[in-house]
Order: sequence, then structure tokens, then C-alpha cells
Amino acid sequence: MSITNIQHFIKGSLTAGTSTRTQDVFNPATGAVTGSVALANTADVASAVAAAKAAFPAWADLPPLRRARVMFKFLELLNQNKDKLAHMITAEHGKVFTDAQGEVARGIDIVEFATGIPQLLKGDYTEQVSTGIDNWTLRQPLGVVAGITPFNFPVMVPMWMFPVAIAAGNTFILKPSPTDPTPSLFMAELLKQAGLPDGVFNVVQGDKEAVDALLVHPNVMAVSFVGSTPIANYIYETGAHHGKRVQALGGAKNHMVVMPDADIDQTVDALIGSAYGSAGERCMAISVAVFVGDVAEKVMPKLIERTKALQILNGTNLAAEMGPIVTSVAQQRITGYIEQGVKEGAQLLVDGRGFNGAAAGAGCDNGFWLGGTLFDHVTTDMRIYKEEIFGPVLSCVRAKDFAEAVNMINAHEFGNGVSIFTRDGSAAREFGRRIQVGMVGINVPIPVPMAWHGFGGWKKSLFGDMHAYGEEGVRFYTKQKSIMQRWPDSIGKGAEFVMPTSK
Ligand code: NAD
Repeated sequence: MSITNIQHFIKGSLTAGTSTRTQDVFNPATGAVTGSVALANTADVASAVAAAKAAFPAWADLPPLRRARVMFKFLELLNQNKDKLAHMITAEHGKVFTDAQGEVARGIDIVEFATGIPQLLKGDYTEQVSTGIDNWTLRQPLGVVAGITPFNFPVMVPMWMFPVAIAAGNTFILKPSPTDPTPSLFMAELLKQAGLPDGVFNVVQGDKEAVDALLVHPNVMAVSFVGSTPIANYIYETGAHHGKRVQALGGAKNHMVVMPDADIDQTVDALIGSAYGSAGERCMAISVAVFVGDVAEKVMPKLIERTKALQILNGTNLAAEMGPIVTSVAQQRITGYIEQGVKEGAQLLVDGRGFNGAAAGAGCDNGFWLGGTLFDHVTTDMRIYKEEIFGPVLSCVRAKDFAEAVNMINAHEFGNGVSIFTRDGSAAREFGRRIQVGMVGINVPIPVPMAWHGFGGWKKSLFGDMHAYGEEGVRFYTKQKSIMQRWPDSIGKGAEFVMPTSK
């Protein structure tokens, strides 16, 4: 198999950059090396920032409607090429093709939202704040902004950022995960085909060296980050220290509360899909089921049966429900957590460690495989409860009542997503009000907000105060200006020494 060299995209062209460092890119299903991605150095980042800075004045000056038209064209091209993008995701991430199609579709939602930028940038106007004086507010782009993204959504998460940032008049540098970098270049190519001027969207491939160069560069005005909590914390502190606006979305440990009155079949379907979909490598995956009262006795037998019956196959197989783990390092980390859970005394009901890649399809023997894993009687002091595993491992805990379930979740350090399954409207309402988590599902296992609502967790799942995309995204990528005007016929009253008030 030939190895593709995966480069940067700066000022409208692919470039190898000046760094000689590279990283292997794998097909997780087979374990084969399929690519070699360039890892940018400080000089490569500087040339991307210079290109983005040079492109900014003309792009920002364009009427929002003309920027929106580029987004409309990009949307059309995305729709024509969405399966090609999904195949690229499956090839480097491993997630099953139909799930990759869903990822692309959720990214496209944000592009659709960004086409509405003329409306979103409309300001507020007050006529006659004082006699002969009007006051209005408007929002202007920041300049060069950067997005640093994780491996698990190589298309959707960048699209949480750049469509809104660019439509608002900024120029953008994407630093994708080096684990699955190819879709970033395809998106760059489609943006170019859509008529985006060179330098408005740039891709710098890389690792910590590229990230650090972006964080300290004086011409980068804002940084959006999505990834694990320790890195999110680092990005937030370092970016803020260097005077940048930062939104840094971190890790998660999402609970699903199952009340005694929940519909059992719906609950089992929801748990299976949200715990094992994308091999649990979603920041909105359910990794803890909280069974209230005696409901566990009804759910558990079905859950065990369904976990054992998961269709774990090469993601290119349309019958696949779960694909491989993204890397061998991740596979070892998850295996380590399973060992830890056993050591801590949790009851291992389904053990995914024995899964043999050969069963996933031809050529999969050396891929990074694990089966679905199910633990029961997990307690809140165990590491498998406290830490993010980010793999196909579901931990079941018991709570005697609703209050205990809510208190348990509120005490957890993460607060990304949560859900409750119940038929009781008042319990659901109370849950929505009292739970200390940013995104809540009521009989919805993975409540990822739609494009116009914005995405973000609480506590250690988000550093900064603005959620991604939606109107918060528009606010993040623009700064407010207030303008007050008075015209000559009201001038000439002499200097005023008292605080102006409404007259
Ligand atoms: P990661 O934190 O390892 O990497 C994220 C990005 O940071 C990548 O671009 C990576 O190259 C860069 N990076 C890694 N180490 C760095 C370092 N030491 N210094 C500077 N930059 C560094 O995350 P990942 O493994 O790619 O993605 C999985 C994580 O992302 C999980 O924790 C998951 O919960 C989280 N995630 C969160 C959300 C959310 O919306 N909250 C969404 C998706 C993923």
C-alpha cells in the first residue's frame, strides 16, 4: 500500500513546510500505516499566520452577504462530496461509515447556520438616546483566529468553528489532530473551490509544537479548542496569558439516569447506541448508567445480551455497529482501565478484551480492536467511575432514589452531557432544573444541541465562557463596538463637564 504525504494548506496551496518531523497515520481497522503527516514547526505556523493576517482586511471588508454566498457554495460542494468525506473519516478514525455520514451531516448543519451571517451580525440601534443623539452597537471580526481539534470528530468539530468564524469576517488557522488529518485538507480544497480567497482558511498539521506556536503568536487573536481536559486547561491558561480570547472544551463522563418507570426497551436501545457507538470515543457518549431503585433488575439481562451481540466490524462494512479503537495507544489505555475496574472490585459482566480482530473482517487481524465492555456495581470512589476512559466501556452504578442520582452527578468533576429516561414529567423537569451539566437529554441519550443552540459543557468540560457555534459562537468570533452619533445642527452648546444623561 502506498503511503500518502499529508501536508499543510497555507495561502491556498498545499505545502510541505520547513519542518522535517512527521507522524504515521494508520487505518485503525487493519493497523496499516496509510500516511505520513507533516508536523509543523514555529516557522510553519508563522507563515500560516502571516497568510491569514494578509487576507484579513479584504475579507473582513466584504459585505456579510458576499461572505455568506461563499458559504452557500461551500454547502453545495459539501453536499456533493459528503460521502467522500465520510469515507476519509472511516479510513483514519475507524468509526463506522454510517456514523461518519452522521458526523458530516452535523457539520453541514453549522455551515447552514453560518449562511445566515448577515442576520446574525445585525446590531442594535437606539434612536434619540439623548436629544439629537443616536447610539448603536455592531459586531466586528477579531482578525486571525485558530482552531485546535481532537481526533474523534475530524470534520464536525472543525466545522463547529471555522464556518462561523469565517462567515463573521475572520481568517482561520485549523490545527487538526495528527491522528486523522486528511479530511482537513479536503475541506480546505472545497472552500477554495467555493471561491474563498487564499489565506482566509489555512491548515497547519502538527502536535504540541504547532499548538504552542499558535498560543504565543501575537497576531492570533482567539483560540478555539476541543480535546481532553488537561490540554483544554493548558490552552485556556496559556492563551489567556498571551492576551487571547479562548474557548476550550474538555473531556467528559456522561451519566444516563434510568428511573424505575422508564421504558425498558427504549432504555436498552439508548444505552447500547450511546455507550458503544463510535466505540465510545465521543465526548457525548454515555459512560455511566445510573439505575434508580430496582430498575437495574429489569435492564441488566437485556443490556448484557445486547452488549455481547454488538456487530463489531470494519467500519467500511455497512452492517457494522462499532468499529475499531483509534490507535493502539488508546486501545492499551482502555484495556488498562478494564484491568483497573476488575482490581477495584467492579463486576465485569462483558469483557471486551478478548475480541479478536479477525472476526471484524478480512485484513483486520492487526487492527486496534476491543469488544464492548460492561461493568456493574461500580462505585463513585473507583477510577473507572471518576476518570474519562473514552472507549467502549459502560459502568453501571446504583442509586436508591432520584435525589441520590442527581447529587452523584452534580458531585462529578465533568459536566458535559447527561440524560434521564423516565415517563414522569415532573421528575424530568426537576432534573433539567437541578442538574449541574451543560447539555441535558430527556429520553434523548446524546443531546448534542442543534447548530443554532450552541454546544458546551460545564465544570471541567469547558474552560472559558462561550459555547461553540450558535449565537455564542458568533459572539466569540466578534467584538462589540458601540457608536454614538450627533450631527452638526445640535453641536455648539459648549463643553459639558457633567456626566451626559438623557435629556
Ligand atoms: P487531545 O487533548 O489529546 O488532543 C486535542 C488537540 O490538542 C489535538 O489537536 C492535539 O494535537 C493537541 N494536543 C495534544 N496534546 C497536546 C499538548 N500537550 N499540548 C498542546 N496541544 C496538544 O484529545 P484527543 O485525544 O484528540 O480527543 C479526545 C478528547 O477530546 C476526549 O477527552 C474528549 O472528551 C474530548 N472531546 C471533547 C469534546 C467537547 O465538546 N467537550 C468534543 C470532542 C472531544
